[in-house]
Amino acid sequence: MRADEIRSRFTEYFERNGHLHLPSSSLVPEADPTLMFTNAGMVQFKRVFQGETEPPAPRAVTVQKCLRVSGKHNDLEDVGRTARHHTFFEMLGNFSFGDYFKHDAIRYAWEFLTGELGLDPERLWATVHHTDDEAYGLWTELTPLPGTRVRRLGDKDNFWQMGDTGPCGPCSEVHYDLREEPDDSINDEQFMAAGEADRFMEIWNLVFMQFDRGPGGVDTPLPAPSIDTGAGLERIAAILQGVGTNFHTDLFLPIIEAAEVSLGREYSTEPVEWEAGLPFRVLADHARAVAFLLADGVFPSNEKRGYVLRRILRRAVRHYWLLGRREPMLDGLVGVVVDRMGGTYPELETRREHLLATTRAEEERFLATIEEGMSRFDEIAPEGGKGTVEGGEAFKLYDTFGFPLDLTELMAAERGYDVDVEGFERALAGQRERSRAAFAETGRGRAGAANLPVADGEQEFVGYDLVETRTPVLAHRALDDGRRALLLARNPFYAESGGQVSDRGHVRGEGWLVDVEAVAKNDAGQTVVIGPVTEGRVPERAEEVEAVVEVSLRRETERNHTATHLLHAALRERLGDHVQQAGSLVAPDRLRFDFSHRGPLTAEERDRIEADVNDAILGNLEVRSARRAYQEALEAGAMALFGEKYGEVVRVIEVPGISLELCGGTHVRTTGQIGLFKIVAETGVAAGVRRIEAVTGRVAYERTVERDRVLEELGRALRAPVHDLPARIERLLEERERFAREASDRRGEAAAEQVERLLETGGQNGRRFVAGRIRVPAGTDLGELGDFLRARLGSGAAVLHVEFPDEGRHAFVSVVSDDLIHEGLKAGDLVRVSSRATGSGGGGRPHFAQGGIGDPERADEGLGAAREWAAERVPGLVS
Ligand code: ATP
Ligand code: MG
Repeated sequence: MRADEIRSRFTEYFERNGHLHLPSSSLVPEADPTLMFTNAGMVQFKRVFQGETEPPAPRAVTVQKCLRVSGKHNDLEDVGRTARHHTFFEMLGNFSFGDYFKHDAIRYAWEFLTGELGLDPERLWATVHHTDDEAYGLWTELTPLPGTRVRRLGDKDNFWQMGDTGPCGPCSEVHYDLREEPDDSINDEQFMAAGEADRFMEIWNLVFMQFDRGPGGVDTPLPAPSIDTGAGLERIAAILQGVGTNFHTDLFLPIIEAAEVSLGREYSTEPVEWEAGLPFRVLADHARAVAFLLADGVFPSNEKRGYVLRRILRRAVRHYWLLGRREPMLDGLVGVVVDRMGGTYPELETRREHLLATTRAEEERFLATIEEGMSRFDEIAPEGGKGTVEGGEAFKLYDTFGFPLDLTELMAAERGYDVDVEGFERALAGQRERSRAAFAETGRGRAGAANLPVADGEQEFVGYDLVETRTPVLAHRALDDGRRALLLARNPFYAESGGQVSDRGHVRGEGWLVDVEAVAKNDAGQTVVIGPVTEGRVPERAEEVEAVVEVSLRRETERNHTATHLLHAALRERLGDHVQQAGSLVAPDRLRFDFSHRGPLTAEERDRIEADVNDAILGNLEVRSARRAYQEALEAGAMALFGEKYGEVVRVIEVPGISLELCGGTHVRTTGQIGLFKIVAETGVAAGVRRIEAVTGRVAYERTVERDRVLEELGRALRAPVHDLPARIERLLEERERFAREASDRRGEAAAEQVERLLETGGQNGRRFVAGRIRVPAGTDLGELGDFLRARLGSGAAVLHVEFPDEGRHAFVSVVSDDLIHEGLKAGDLVRVSSRATGSGGGGRPHFAQGGIGDPERADEGLGAAREWAAERVPGLVS
């Protein structure tokens, strides 16, 4: 049974049993700072289980994208080694929110596995928590499982908790016996060991959320116990397809096959070849993780989620590099993932171009340094040795060659070395500190959220409609640096988000004033305004204040924000749907927009895009904002942000007929307020990512005024009307070139004439030695002079004292013909002896050389020295 079918049978089975089928949420957990990535189906229901929000329905079923590469669940090191662990995998789950409990959870699981999928009941086992008699009883009563195949295990495997406090409960797992000859007689330890050895496969975990754990570990029963289950799609596929490992299912083999082609090597599914196949399995796994992370909006970087993506990707590169591949290939595997899974996960298909281009760019980036990094690593940790890789070295590998620490650790471990992780952290912290200091100096440092005030009361953001308001202060506090941080009940200040920078302004109370120069979020997500007290002092007791946003800056920022939406729409219109936002800055004085696209824009594309945006401005279209259900917004064609959740209400900004985007920022009321839009620069930031910088409104206007001024000045200087300037300048340049050519010719002629005259003094025929002085105009090219001299000389040698009377400069130039070079006479030597005789130095190649003249009075002595030298080397040359 193909994986696609298992997936749909699962959701259909539970839908038939009254479950609401909900889509997978993003791999980036929405509004959950405690979690880096979604690692189980229950993540999107966390707040429901904690009683903070209403359940979407009494029972639900999902197929959830999961990633286990960080935190409590980190399976990265197992990937490719065990039969059953991936970084990215799909978790099938059914959920009951205070509806059914253990009885039905067990009944459904059994019925689905044996009835719907037809798994052999003789090979199924269950585990329960050793205290959970109820679950033990249910397994033995509701299913034909004998007691010997229901094992009671401890907390480690069969107790689940969300955190130190909160919902928790015992769980029950279903395992499948992969051994050739199943028997029930093994003890619990043997059973566990067989699981680790991939002789058993854990397929499903049923969590019975039964208690609320209070401080101190006291469990009180939940009024409405719940169910959360998770089964790995890949593991079930492995069993149903009879292949013993997830990697040999239809979910992975096509990717492995593509890797075989790229690597020009074969992968064998034979168990004896398991070790050798590791890189293939890792590549297939990582291609899936990379594809899904990119599709959910994670971008490779050195921070947080972006860094996890980078680590996974670079591990993959290192694997194929070790197999001799020097070109990107992961992008091809990502393409296979999109081909195979884009039907189920449309976010892959719609971002295909972005996925491939970004993967490739990141591969290229690492391939550029991996070679050097690897040889560096060989020096630090030679094969056959052992010891510790110093922290500073690990940091250098990271910083200079792009080796993530975990990759260095992996490589070190393979050779039996340790890595001084603490030393690495110290070096990294040192670097962070330095860049933070540099950042703070630019005045854009952000206040740390740590000691910002927090308030119980409700805070409301009123900045969409107001730039000035009276409001109570909910809390305030002096920061370490003496500035004040205030938490306003009705807050008109926008806090940096979605690329739009924070507002500035002031807060005025009775006899005091705070200049707002920063806006930040505290740990509770409330907005806090920060700045120095510039008048009076802030009284302890909260009071009513006047909060005023610096309206001119806000308006300039809004122009840039709406213009960014128009630009995004124009780019997609003109270049195609592969254009995806990859970064954005919206400031009062400029906007910057990064997007996926290969290669620079042509001048024509750029002009058209600029014109499109200005057309939309001239149309003076209304900019509408509305709050809509996420799903509805997507269906209306809104360009989605990442991490939004099904069922959530989102803000949508619409410029009718042109742009529809999910956005929390502030915007102009009508496009006409933008005034004018000018692209200032279009550059590349990484392979496959372009950047447009642009200005609007007053800044764009001032820029054109300034350019006009420069043009007029040029016109005056060149005595031409502005529209004639290009032709005028072209003509001037041509003239200049002609003059230069003529001047050079004249100089050459002047020199040539004198050379001819000198040559006459050296005798007409046979080999000759010429020495003498010529006077040439400034700018005469000594190289050309030498060429001419050598051509006219025939067989012989010459040393000239070249005088530039205009510049008061003197030099020796020497040439020697090939036949004399063979006899051991070299121009370099002739110049050297001449220059030395005048107290200077010089030299060059055998056929041409030039040198200085220290004391011009002694130039003739120099020539004499050369003459002697030549006479000695080639008897008979000098007469
Ligand atoms: P294991 O002990 O095999 O690592 P687990 O106890 O960590 O599994 P759970 O956290 O209970 O697994 O997750 C529920 C289900 O998700 C598992 O029964 C399994 O089918 C699947 N699963 C868990 N981790 C992975 C993984 N890294 N790759 C693929 N499937 C997984
Ligand atoms: Mg695990």
